[in-house]
Amino acid sequence: MADEMQINPQRAKQLAVNLASISSRINAANKSSKKIRLIAVSKLKPATDILALHQQPQPIHYHFGENYVQELLEKAKLLPRSIRWHFIGGLQSNKCKQLAEQIPNLWCVSSVDTAKKCDQLEKGRKALVESDAGVEPLRVMVQVNTSGEESKSGVEPDDALALAKHIVEQCPNLRFTGLMTIGAIARSKATTPETKNEDFVTLRDVRDKVAEGLDWEKEKMELSMGMSADFEGAIAMGSNEVRVGSDIFGERPAKKDAVVVEKS
Ligand SMILES: *Cc1c(COP(=O)(O)O)cnc(C)c1O
Repeated sequence: MADEMQINPQRAKQLAVNLASISSRINAANKSSKKIRLIAVSKLKPATDILALHQQPQPIHYHFGENYVQELLEKAKLLPRSIRWHFIGGLQSNKCKQLAEQIPNLWCVSSVDTAKKCDQLEKGRKALVESDAGVEPLRVMVQVNTSGEESKSGVEPDDALALAKHIVEQCPNLRFTGLMTIGAIARSKATTPETKNEDFVTLRDVRDKVAEGLDWEKEKMELSMGMSADFEGAIAMGSNEVRVGSDIFGERPAKKDAVVVEKS
């Protein structure tokens, strides 16, 4: 368990410095008064890296993002329940129930793109809520394929409203909180705080349409956009949440080489 894990103090210090540097860049880019959530994307990184940022004498960070169900299940079992996990990766319908049922501190699933996946998440969360009264409904975001690339998951922009309605009307144990996009890599790389990334423009437009269709205030819906390469530009475009991995944890290993618990 967590208290038996050996954290390398030098590594912990480096991670804390990296995190502080990202936080100050977020604050500098944020011209509004709203608070922007930073998800530290820890996929393929060892559990000790997460613990180093979460369990100082006082946790310095709570929100962590993961992409693979099996890896997240393993990490969630090992690490403190005070962590707020975000599932941000490609979702398979047959893993959704397990994901929603087995991780009480799963804070949000940011990558839903079909009604079937929502129904499976709903089933899992319902079972969990019934067995553990302390558990809240599961937040979900609809992932939108703003770049039109076939390789990207997400609903087409025109289909976001229907899926949002499905969640709001049919899934009482899910809470629809907003929209997420990844966007085209080339556009990410070309993004500066001054340029307008088209994917972010699209996500904002989709948000406006979905809010209108649901008869919600726009501000009630969050936008999750921005990664290491483009988070400052995303914040300039109104992002509420950025997902930063490599700029905090460094380059990721290949999936086959990733380990949750390192051998000492
Ligand atoms: C991996 C990943 C990130 C983090 O990407 P970096 O470029 O390492 O910051 C953000 N969002 C999603 C959906 C991801 O899969």
